[in-house]
Amino acid sequence: MRPHTTATDDSLFFWEAAARGALVAQRCGACGVMRHPPRPMCPHCHSLDHEVVDLSGRGSLYSYALLHHPQHPAFDYPVFAALVELDEGIRLVSNLVDVEPADIRIGMRLEVAFEPTADGGAVPVFRPAGSPS
Ligand SMILES: [Zn+2]
Repeated sequence: MRPHTTATDDSLFFWEAAARGALVAQRCGACGVMRHPPRPMCPHCHSLDHEVVDLSGRGSLYSYALLHHPQHPAFDYPVFAALVELDEGIRLVSNLVDVEPADIRIGMRLEVAFEPTADGGAVPVFRPAGSPS
């Protein structure tokens, strides 16, 4: 079981959405630019006004690394750490699941899935698009 998530005042909405199986992000209420990770101020126009929007959960693999050390008992190794470029134009650090290392390709299409955490929440992970559920 994955460790519990660590929510801050800024990221609580993200983890609450993940716990109900939704991937969301902030969108600036002034200029409309999407942003992630969550933060109080728009990096483009400095507005504090924002809204939370649902994402498609689809994207492509921008970069990745296979993590071997240090190991934590809650994970199977290697852990596939992925930087996913979402179709909405923002990038998210996550994990790849349901894929063999030899099949990983930069640019491969991915879709979100959710894995439970020890505190009853969930974390978004990504698998090859079209994988059986
Ligand atoms: Zn803005």
